[in-house]
Amino acid sequence: MRMIFIGLLLGKMGTQLWLAWLNRRAAWAQKGAKAVPFGIMTPERYERSLDYTLAKNAFGSWELVYDGLWTGLLLFGGVLPWVAMEAAQLLGLGVMEGWGSLLGYSLAFALCGIVTGLPSLPWEWWAQFRLEAKFGFNKSTLKLWIIDKLKGFVLGLVIGCPLIAVLFKLYLSFPEHWYLGGFAVLAGFQLLMLVIYPLWIMPLFNTFKPLAAGVLRDRLMALAQRTQFPVEDIHIMDGSRRSGHSNAFFTGLGRWRRIVLFDTLVEQLSEEQLEAVLAHEIGHYKRGHVLKRLLVGFGTLAIGFGALGWLLNQAHTGFFSLFGFPKNGPMIYYAFLVLSLLSEIFTFWITPLLNRQSRSHEYEADAFAKKAMGSSAPLVGALHILHEKNLSQLMPHPIFSGFYYSHPTLVERQKALEL
Ligand SMILES: [Zn+2]
Repeated sequence: MRMIFIGLLLGKMGTQLWLAWLNRRAAWAQKGAKAVPFGIMTPERYERSLDYTLAKNAFGSWELVYDGLWTGLLLFGGVLPWVAMEAAQLLGLGVMEGWGSLLGYSLAFALCGIVTGLPSLPWEWWAQFRLEAKFGFNKSTLKLWIIDKLKGFVLGLVIGCPLIAVLFKLYLSFPEHWYLGGFAVLAGFQLLMLVIYPLWIMPLFNTFKPLAAGVLRDRLMALAQRTQFPVEDIHIMDGSRRSGHSNAFFTGLGRWRRIVLFDTLVEQLSEEQLEAVLAHEIGHYKRGHVLKRLLVGFGTLAIGFGALGWLLNQAHTGFFSLFGFPKNGPMIYYAFLVLSLLSEIFTFWITPLLNRQSRSHEYEADAFAKKAMGSSAPLVGALHILHEKNLSQLMPHPIFSGFYYSHPTLVERQKALEL
């Protein structure tokens, strides 16, 4: 049984390394080319985008091996149970009962998350201050980076701990069917986050300003009117505080919906191109993508809780001793710890399915934008600039992009747009 899980972990890691290797070979083969697909960028810039791809690929592959070794050590080397016991002892926790002890255990769970996450910090630092910086994308400072980490940590405690304590309570009160309640609680939480996240959480990290009155605003508001997408404001986010990458996105639901443009994007695109990007974002809303994605999220959540319920029913067979946990004790605490590390070896395999759905949504939003703009030219122009500025890889290996890409490649999008 232990070997099965080790095999699953190695299988995922091997697949990831293989995908990275495929894409690395594709990028190597494209280097030194004189012709750039669709003439999207200059040959020099194209070369640089391939260098960026290769640098990220090498970094990512080393990180994968490191992460795999660490996860293996945690799960099969006795490190996770040791951390779990130390955390519980540090907080003076005993039998799991009553809200005080439940909150204590959820705090211990968070503490374990921090300790087990520490080894990845140097990698995150390197990615931001070495890799991204080398290609001119890093705009963050060490101070801002540390503050971000601390904010994320406090936020995780404030939101996560009570939620975990409620799930623990459900398990203690209804051990047979607790996962049904657990699913309902988390689904409700996801819905709530859809509203709270753009309103209260994102402003903790970035400044949002309504787009100033003027020609651009009039133009974008007119588009919203024309497509029957009434918004009060279009928000500009100071993405340039941390990164040179540019983007636009759509969040929220119903009357809390929000369209956000990065300040970097507004700088890079013409007014007509920004209008096309906005039309694309409106397309996501009009085609019901937010709701569809939410439903798929609920589906995966239901499967996750089903698995968790099954796992806990195996507790008496000594399932958790596979990972070095004692046969008795706060089982739900052990189960959450094990699953927080183990879940990825299962969810990894549905990534391509989720991405496939996401890519079909992108095509639909593109088609909507083309119709709203009366031409595909503005969106194609915007996408060219975005890819050029972000040094996006133009022709990733098809298996690699099929697995990981939430958006079709530019070449695919342009083909579909110009059909
Ligand atoms: Zn999109």
